[in-house]
Amino acid sequence: MILNWQLDSAADTWLTSLMQHAADTALRCEGVTLPCSVDIRLCSDEAIREINRAYRGIDKATDVLSFPLNTYPAGRTAGNAPKHLQMNYDDETGACALGDLIISTEHILSQAKEYGHSPQREAAYLLVHGLCHLFGYDHIEDDDKRRMREMEEKILSEIGIGRDDTQIPDETLLQMAREMLKRSYCPYSHYAVGAAILADDGRVFTGCNIENASYGLTNCAERTAVFKAVSEGATSFTAIAIAAYDAAPWPCGACRQVLNEFAPGIRVLVTWGDHVEEAPLSTLLPHGFGPNELPQTDH
Ligand SMILES: [Zn+2]
Repeated sequence: MILNWQLDSAADTWLTSLMQHAADTALRCEGVTLPCSVDIRLCSDEAIREINRAYRGIDKATDVLSFPLNTYPAGRTAGNAPKHLQMNYDDETGACALGDLIISTEHILSQAKEYGHSPQREAAYLLVHGLCHLFGYDHIEDDDKRRMREMEEKILSEIGIGRDDTQIPDETLLQMAREMLKRSYCPYSHYAVGAAILADDGRVFTGCNIENASYGLTNCAERTAVFKAVSEGATSFTAIAIAAYDAAPWPCGACRQVLNEFAPGIRVLVTWGDHVEEAPLSTLLPHGFGPNELPQTDH
Protein backbone atom coordinates (compact mmCIF):
# COMPACT_ATOMS: atom_id res chain seq x y z
CA MET A 1 0.00 0.00 0.00
CA ILE A 2 1.34 3.38 -0.95
CA LEU A 3 0.66 5.89 1.82
CA ASN A 4 1.08 9.51 0.75
CA TRP A 5 1.80 11.28 4.02
CA GLN A 6 0.98 14.75 5.16
CA LEU A 7 2.34 15.18 8.67
CA ASP A 8 1.35 18.48 10.25
CA SER A 9 3.86 17.87 13.03
CA ALA A 10 7.28 16.25 12.61
CA ALA A 11 6.77 14.81 16.11
CA ASP A 12 4.30 12.34 14.61
CA THR A 13 6.83 10.51 12.43
CA TRP A 14 6.98 7.69 15.01
CA LEU A 15 3.53 6.61 13.80
CA THR A 16 4.33 6.15 10.12
CA SER A 17 6.10 2.79 10.15
CA LEU A 18 3.43 1.20 12.36
CA MET A 19 0.68 2.59 10.15
CA GLN A 20 2.47 1.37 7.01
CA HIS A 21 2.60 -2.11 8.52
CA ALA A 22 -1.09 -1.90 9.49
CA ALA A 23 -2.10 -0.71 6.01
CA ASP A 24 -0.17 -3.51 4.25
CA THR A 25 -1.79 -6.04 6.59
CA ALA A 26 -5.26 -4.57 5.99
CA LEU A 27 -4.87 -4.83 2.23
CA ARG A 28 -3.81 -8.47 2.55
CA CYS A 29 -6.67 -9.35 4.95
CA GLU A 30 -9.22 -7.70 2.66
CA GLY A 31 -7.84 -9.80 -0.21
CA VAL A 32 -6.95 -6.88 -2.48
CA THR A 33 -4.27 -7.95 -4.93
CA LEU A 34 -4.05 -4.69 -6.91
CA PRO A 35 -1.56 -2.05 -5.74
CA CYS A 36 -3.44 0.70 -3.88
CA SER A 37 -2.70 4.15 -2.52
CA VAL A 38 -4.19 6.32 0.22
CA ASP A 39 -3.58 9.99 1.00
CA ILE A 40 -3.21 10.23 4.76
CA ARG A 41 -2.87 13.27 6.96
CA LEU A 42 -1.97 13.24 10.66
CA CYS A 43 -3.07 16.48 12.29
CA SER A 44 -4.27 18.25 15.42
CA ASP A 45 -7.80 18.33 16.86
CA GLU A 46 -8.18 21.87 15.60
CA ALA A 47 -7.30 20.89 12.01
CA ILE A 48 -9.61 17.86 11.93
CA ARG A 49 -12.39 19.99 13.39
CA GLU A 50 -12.03 22.42 10.50
CA ILE A 51 -12.23 19.60 7.95
CA ASN A 52 -15.21 18.08 9.74
CA ARG A 53 -16.97 21.44 9.64
CA ALA A 54 -16.11 22.14 5.99
CA TYR A 55 -17.01 18.72 4.55
CA ARG A 56 -19.60 17.31 6.93
CA GLY A 57 -21.10 20.39 8.54
CA ILE A 58 -20.13 19.09 11.99
CA ASP A 59 -18.26 21.67 14.05
CA LYS A 60 -16.46 19.14 16.27
CA ALA A 61 -13.05 17.47 16.50
CA THR A 62 -13.07 13.73 15.92
CA ASP A 63 -10.58 10.85 15.81
CA VAL A 64 -10.66 9.82 12.14
CA LEU A 65 -12.33 11.00 8.93
CA SER A 66 -12.38 8.92 5.76
CA PHE A 67 -13.27 10.09 2.28
CA PRO A 68 -13.56 7.05 -0.03
CA LEU A 69 -13.12 7.58 -3.78
CA ASN A 70 -15.13 4.49 -4.69
CA THR A 71 -18.78 3.62 -4.35
CA TYR A 72 -18.98 -0.14 -4.20
CA PRO A 73 -22.05 -2.12 -5.26
CA ALA A 74 -24.28 -3.20 -2.36
CA GLY A 75 -22.78 -6.02 -0.32
CA ARG A 76 -19.35 -5.73 -2.00
CA THR A 77 -16.12 -4.33 -0.66
CA ALA A 78 -12.68 -3.61 -2.17
CA GLY A 79 -11.58 -7.26 -1.93
CA ASN A 80 -14.28 -8.43 -4.30
CA ALA A 81 -14.69 -5.38 -6.49
CA PRO A 82 -11.44 -5.14 -8.50
CA LYS A 83 -13.20 -3.45 -11.42
CA HIS A 84 -14.30 -0.61 -9.17
CA LEU A 85 -10.78 -0.21 -7.80
CA GLN A 86 -9.38 -0.05 -11.31
CA MET A 87 -11.59 2.94 -12.13
CA ASN A 88 -9.29 4.99 -9.91
CA TYR A 89 -6.05 3.52 -11.23
CA ASP A 90 -3.42 6.24 -11.51
CA ASP A 91 -0.71 5.75 -14.17
CA GLU A 92 1.68 8.04 -12.35
CA THR A 93 1.69 6.13 -9.05
CA GLY A 94 0.92 2.74 -10.59
CA ALA A 95 -1.75 2.21 -7.93
CA CYS A 96 -5.51 2.43 -7.45
CA ALA A 97 -6.37 5.45 -5.31
CA LEU A 98 -8.73 4.52 -2.46
CA GLY A 99 -9.30 7.97 -0.98
CA ASP A 100 -8.27 10.18 1.92
CA LEU A 101 -7.79 9.55 5.63
CA ILE A 102 -7.40 12.24 8.27
CA ILE A 103 -6.42 11.20 11.78
CA SER A 104 -6.06 13.39 14.85
CA THR A 105 -2.90 12.52 16.76
CA GLU A 106 -4.31 14.32 19.81
CA HIS A 107 -7.22 11.87 19.75
CA ILE A 108 -4.81 8.91 19.41
CA LEU A 109 -3.08 9.89 22.63
CA SER A 110 -6.17 10.86 24.63
CA GLN A 111 -8.21 7.80 23.58
CA ALA A 112 -5.29 5.46 24.30
CA LYS A 113 -5.18 6.86 27.82
CA GLU A 114 -8.96 6.65 28.21
CA TYR A 115 -9.13 3.00 27.07
CA GLY A 116 -5.97 1.99 28.93
CA HIS A 117 -4.00 0.68 25.97
CA SER A 118 -0.93 1.78 24.05
CA PRO A 119 -0.96 4.72 21.62
CA GLN A 120 0.19 2.16 19.01
CA ARG A 121 -2.94 0.09 19.45
CA GLU A 122 -5.11 3.20 19.17
CA ALA A 123 -3.22 4.46 16.11
CA ALA A 124 -3.48 1.08 14.39
CA TYR A 125 -7.17 0.84 15.27
CA LEU A 126 -8.02 4.27 13.88
CA LEU A 127 -6.05 3.62 10.70
CA VAL A 128 -7.71 0.23 10.21
CA HIS A 129 -11.16 1.68 10.93
CA GLY A 130 -10.62 4.46 8.37
CA LEU A 131 -9.19 2.03 5.80
CA CYS A 132 -12.21 -0.26 6.21
CA HIS A 133 -14.39 2.71 5.24
CA LEU A 134 -12.21 3.22 2.16
CA PHE A 135 -12.68 -0.49 1.40
CA GLY A 136 -16.44 0.07 1.38
CA TYR A 137 -17.43 -1.07 4.90
CA ASP A 138 -19.78 0.97 7.07
CA HIS A 139 -21.49 0.71 10.43
CA ILE A 140 -24.96 2.14 9.91
CA GLU A 141 -26.98 -1.10 9.74
CA ASP A 142 -26.36 -3.79 12.37
CA ASP A 143 -25.36 -6.42 9.79
CA ASP A 144 -22.87 -4.10 8.09
CA LYS A 145 -21.53 -3.04 11.47
CA ARG A 146 -20.87 -6.68 12.41
CA ARG A 147 -19.02 -7.31 9.12
CA MET A 148 -16.91 -4.19 9.59
CA ARG A 149 -16.02 -5.11 13.19
CA GLU A 150 -15.06 -8.63 12.11
CA MET A 151 -12.73 -7.31 9.43
CA GLU A 152 -11.20 -4.77 11.84
CA GLU A 153 -10.58 -7.47 14.44
CA LYS A 154 -9.09 -9.79 11.82
CA ILE A 155 -6.63 -7.12 10.68
CA LEU A 156 -5.72 -6.02 14.21
CA SER A 157 -5.11 -9.54 15.45
CA GLU A 158 -3.00 -10.20 12.33
CA ILE A 159 -0.90 -7.16 13.26
CA GLY A 160 -0.81 -8.64 16.76
CA ILE A 161 -2.63 -5.86 18.55
CA GLY A 162 -6.14 -7.23 18.90
CA ARG A 163 -8.63 -6.22 21.57
CA ASP A 164 -6.86 -7.86 24.49
CA ASP A 165 -3.31 -7.00 23.54
CA THR A 166 -1.73 -4.08 25.28
CA GLN A 167 1.83 -4.66 24.15
CA ILE A 168 3.43 -4.64 20.75
CA PRO A 169 4.23 -8.31 20.02
CA ASP A 170 7.71 -9.38 18.98
CA GLU A 171 6.61 -10.30 15.45
CA THR A 172 5.28 -6.77 14.85
CA LEU A 173 8.49 -5.24 16.19
CA LEU A 174 10.53 -7.57 13.95
CA GLN A 175 8.39 -6.67 10.94
CA MET A 176 8.86 -2.95 11.61
CA ALA A 177 12.64 -3.51 11.74
CA ARG A 178 12.50 -5.44 8.44
CA GLU A 179 10.59 -2.59 6.81
CA MET A 180 13.36 -0.17 7.78
CA LEU A 181 15.79 -2.15 5.60
CA LYS A 182 14.34 -0.20 2.67
CA ARG A 183 15.54 3.08 4.20
CA SER A 184 19.09 1.89 4.83
CA TYR A 185 21.75 4.16 3.36
CA CYS A 186 24.65 1.78 2.79
CA PRO A 187 26.35 2.53 -0.55
CA TYR A 188 29.76 1.45 0.84
CA SER A 189 29.17 -1.79 2.72
CA HIS A 190 25.89 -2.76 0.98
CA TYR A 191 24.97 -4.26 4.37
CA ALA A 192 21.47 -2.93 5.10
CA VAL A 193 20.23 -2.94 8.71
CA GLY A 194 16.87 -1.87 10.14
CA ALA A 195 15.90 -1.52 13.79
CA ALA A 196 12.77 -0.92 15.87
CA ILE A 197 12.97 -0.14 19.57
CA LEU A 198 10.01 -0.42 21.96
CA ALA A 199 9.79 2.24 24.67
CA ASP A 200 8.06 1.38 27.93
CA ASP A 201 5.32 3.91 27.18
CA GLY A 202 4.32 1.76 24.19
CA ARG A 203 5.86 3.89 21.45
CA VAL A 204 8.09 2.28 18.82
CA PHE A 205 10.94 4.16 17.18
CA THR A 206 12.60 2.86 14.04
CA GLY A 207 15.99 3.44 12.46
CA CYS A 208 18.29 2.31 9.69
CA ASN A 209 22.05 2.38 9.24
CA ILE A 210 23.38 5.56 7.66
CA GLU A 211 26.84 5.36 6.10
CA ASN A 212 29.19 8.16 5.17
CA ALA A 213 31.89 8.70 2.56
CA SER A 214 34.32 9.13 5.46
CA TYR A 215 33.38 5.57 6.56
CA GLY A 216 34.09 6.37 10.22
CA LEU A 217 31.04 8.59 10.62
CA THR A 218 28.65 5.76 9.86
CA ASN A 219 25.76 5.41 12.29
CA CYS A 220 24.18 2.03 12.98
CA ALA A 221 20.45 1.35 12.74
CA GLU A 222 20.19 0.63 16.48
CA ARG A 223 21.71 3.96 17.49
CA THR A 224 19.58 5.82 14.92
CA ALA A 225 16.50 4.32 16.60
CA VAL A 226 17.75 5.06 20.13
CA PHE A 227 18.65 8.66 19.29
CA LYS A 228 15.30 9.26 17.63
CA ALA A 229 13.55 7.87 20.71
CA VAL A 230 15.56 9.85 23.28
CA SER A 231 15.11 13.07 21.31
CA GLU A 232 11.34 12.47 21.40
CA GLY A 233 11.35 12.00 25.17
CA ALA A 234 11.51 8.20 25.49
CA THR A 235 14.42 7.04 27.64
CA SER A 236 13.36 3.62 28.90
CA PHE A 237 13.08 0.57 26.64
CA THR A 238 12.00 -3.05 26.87
CA ALA A 239 12.95 -4.59 23.50
CA ILE A 240 14.78 -3.86 20.27
CA ALA A 241 14.42 -5.75 16.99
CA ILE A 242 17.25 -5.63 14.45
CA ALA A 243 16.89 -6.89 10.87
CA ALA A 244 19.27 -7.64 8.03
CA TYR A 245 18.82 -9.54 4.77
CA ASP A 246 21.17 -12.47 5.01
CA ALA A 247 23.52 -12.34 7.99
CA ALA A 248 22.78 -12.15 11.72
CA PRO A 249 22.76 -8.44 12.67
CA TRP A 250 23.87 -8.69 16.30
CA PRO A 251 24.60 -5.14 17.49
CA CYS A 252 28.17 -3.85 17.36
CA GLY A 253 30.04 -2.88 20.52
CA ALA A 254 29.16 0.80 20.23
CA CYS A 255 25.44 0.04 20.01
CA ARG A 256 25.59 -2.39 22.94
CA GLN A 257 27.16 0.39 25.03
CA VAL A 258 24.53 2.95 23.96
CA LEU A 259 21.68 0.50 24.69
CA ASN A 260 23.24 -0.21 28.10
CA GLU A 261 23.07 3.50 28.96
CA PHE A 262 19.27 3.50 28.84
CA ALA A 263 18.15 -0.11 29.12
CA PRO A 264 20.62 -2.61 30.61
CA GLY A 265 17.77 -5.15 30.83
CA ILE A 266 16.58 -4.77 27.22
CA ARG A 267 15.75 -7.85 25.11
CA VAL A 268 17.63 -7.88 21.81
CA LEU A 269 15.94 -9.68 18.91
CA VAL A 270 17.74 -10.21 15.62
CA THR A 271 16.29 -11.46 12.35
CA TRP A 272 17.72 -12.31 8.96
CA GLY A 273 16.15 -14.48 6.27
CA ASP A 274 13.76 -16.80 8.10
CA HIS A 275 15.82 -16.69 11.32
CA VAL A 276 14.94 -15.00 14.59
CA GLU A 277 17.21 -15.12 17.63
CA GLU A 278 17.01 -13.36 20.95
CA ALA A 279 19.39 -12.54 23.81
CA PRO A 280 19.24 -10.17 26.78
CA LEU A 281 21.67 -7.28 26.52
CA SER A 282 23.31 -8.45 29.76
CA THR A 283 24.70 -11.50 27.95
CA LEU A 284 25.83 -9.41 24.95
CA LEU A 285 27.59 -6.89 27.20
CA PRO A 286 28.69 -8.66 30.38
CA HIS A 287 30.08 -6.44 33.16
CA GLY A 288 28.67 -3.45 31.28
CA PHE A 289 29.75 0.02 32.29
CA GLY A 290 26.79 2.35 32.75
CA PRO A 291 25.57 5.36 34.72
CA ASN A 292 25.32 3.28 37.93
CA GLU A 293 29.02 2.45 37.81
CA LEU A 294 30.03 6.11 38.15
CA PRO A 295 30.89 7.20 41.69
CA GLN A 296 28.07 9.19 43.29
CA THR A 297 29.21 12.76 43.83
CA ASP A 298 27.42 15.92 44.95
CA HIS A 299 27.73 18.83 42.60
ZN1 LIG B 1 26.21 -0.57 15.96
